[in-house]
Formats: sequence, structure tokens, C-alpha cells
Amino acid sequence: MAQAQLHIDLTALQANWRALDALSSAQVQTAATVKANGYGLGAGHVAHALARAGARRFFVAVAEEGVAVRAAIGPELPIHVYGGHMNGDARLISEARLSPMLNSAEQLTRHFEALPGHPFGIQLDTGMNRLGMEPAEWQAVAEIALSQRPDLIMSHLACADDPGHPMNARQLAVFRALTEGCGVARSLSATGGVLLGPEYHFDMTRPGIGLYGGAPFSRARPVVRLAIPVIQIRDVAAGETVGYSNTFTAPRDMRLATIAAGYADGIHRALSGKATLWAGDTACPLVGRVSMDLLTIDVTDAPGDPDTLDLLGPEQGVDDLADVIGTIGYEVLTGLGQRYARRYHGAA
Ligand SMILES: *Cc1c(COP(=O)(O)O)cnc(C)c1O
Repeated sequence: MAQAQLHIDLTALQANWRALDALSSAQVQTAATVKANGYGLGAGHVAHALARAGARRFFVAVAEEGVAVRAAIGPELPIHVYGGHMNGDARLISEARLSPMLNSAEQLTRHFEALPGHPFGIQLDTGMNRLGMEPAEWQAVAEIALSQRPDLIMSHLACADDPGHPMNARQLAVFRALTEGCGVARSLSATGGVLLGPEYHFDMTRPGIGLYGGAPFSRARPVVRLAIPVIQIRDVAAGETVGYSNTFTAPRDMRLATIAAGYADGIHRALSGKATLWAGDTACPLVGRVSMDLLTIDVTDAPGDPDTLDLLGPEQGVDDLADVIGTIGYEVLTGLGQRYARRYHGAA
């Protein structure tokens, strides 16, 4: 079999949720963000495992993503949609029993007209200028919106991964000013905000990346291991070239493994000549170009001929791999290819 195996440790995922939950007081609910198909790991499996660990509320980006989560967690637990209520979403929101985070007066009107009495939340912009009602807009509609009893009011921090950034305190002050005394549950923090401390926690936190083992939650347990099968091993002599465009010339006699994954699996072509794979704890450099379905790896120093090589695992986490080409663990996770066989371990 030449299909790469993406091992997903649901026990580690659950431990990460518990560890993040333990960082806020018992009165603060820790929800779970499972957008983008559970950060690439499979929204249904992830949501089910997190519900078993104790998560009582879930967040997705768009209404369509809520369907798989609803199927996984049963009819009771709330699922919020960050993108709010878009034109044409009413049926999905109603059938999957989603609570859209309404982002504008326009969405508010749409929701109240299409689904009167159906749960909703409010998203406010406190300075990030991405989603949510601006202070003036909120002041204009707050009375009407609050009379319809939203189930949550939230905003999002732009710089929470940098604890010293003055933007954090600025957004905190704006959020407080806009919501003090509103009588509705409040949420400001994702993973980064959880780590900023109690004044950022309000009634609910909604971490994503930390659950999946990514920075800025440095104490996270790694959740993924990506093992890529070796299809063929060959010896090349010093001076021979390897792969498309001859970008690599063997500096010495070498043993090379050709393995079954490439840029079609989300392994960025920018990693050409830069990535490291692992045979157990032996580092094996990627040589030459990343091609669509294949990588060529220097296994000269590996003990014996390996059957698989790890691109992600105990020796190299999602942020380590991200650092090689200047991206972030979030992008590594959400870019994990559909061609991988996802194997779930732990947590029935
Ligand atoms: C993605 C997202 C989250 C989760 O963020 P992490 O940094 O992954 O913890 C929370 N809130 C909003 C609005 C988001 O878009």
C-alpha cells in the first residue's frame, strides 16, 4: 500500500482540551473550535472525542461545516457559526440546529425574518476589523438584539499570540465597554487568549489550535503523526542528479528513498530541498524538488532500509515543519491532504 497514513491521537486531543480547560476557572466554560474540518483532522471524529472529554459547545466557520459536527455530537449541544447567517443558510441553520454569530445589522434582520425564535449569537468587532458589528452599529441595534435573547456575545483578539502586545488590552477594554451588564454569556478568547489570563476568559473560551497540538499552546501534546511509505530505494553515485530540473546533485555516494506523498497532499513545493523526514530518531533530508505525488529522501544514515518515513511526529511537530518555510502550524494542519488515510487512535 502506497497511501500515507495520518495517525490522529484522540487521547492527546482530549488531554489538550482538559489542559486548556484547567487554565480557566471552573465557572468558565471551555468550548471547542472545530472549523475547517476539525483543523484538517476530521470534524466528526474530533467533535465526538471532544464532547466525550467534556466540551459542551462547538464553533465552525460556515453553516455547511455544522452538519458533520451535529451528526457527531447528537442533537443537544450548541454549535455556533462564526460566519453568521448568510443568504440561503436558513434551512441548514434550522435543520442542523445551528446558532449563527450574527455579524451585522443586515444578518440580524435576515435571521429574525427567516427564523424568528431560533437561537443566535452576536459577534462584535473590537478592533480586528474582520468580522462583527462595529461599536456604533452595535449601539444602534443592541436593544432590539438583546430583546431577542442571544445565547452568546463574542469578539476575537487580533494579537493574542503575543502576550505583550498592547492590542490585547485595548480590545479587552472595548469588549468590556460594549458588553458590560448585557446579561448574555460572553466570549473573547481563542487559544492565545486562554493563555493571557483570567480577565480574558469571561464566561466561555473557544480554543482551536491548542487542541490540535499547535502554538501558542506550548504545553500541547502532539496529536498527529504522518507516516509516508517508501516505494523504492536506490543507490546513486556522487555527481548524479535527482528529480525535476536536476536541482540536486549528489555530493557523495548516497542511498535515496522515494516516498509516496507530494504537493498534491499539501506538502508545499516551497519545502523543496529544505524539509527533513525522520526514520525513528534519524533525520533524513529531503533532496531535490517536491513533486506532485513523490518525495526523494536521503536515507544514507538511516539504520537499515525504512518502510516509512515520518514528516510529522515526535521529532517534528506541525510548528517545526511550518517554521521551515515561514508559515504557521494552522496552515500545516489544515493543508493535510485528503489522500492520506486518517487513522484514529484512542477514545471510542
Ligand atoms: C479560528 C477561530 C478561533 C480559534 O482560534 P485558535 O487560535 O485556533 O484557538 C476562535 N475564534 C474565532 C473567531 C476564530 O476565527
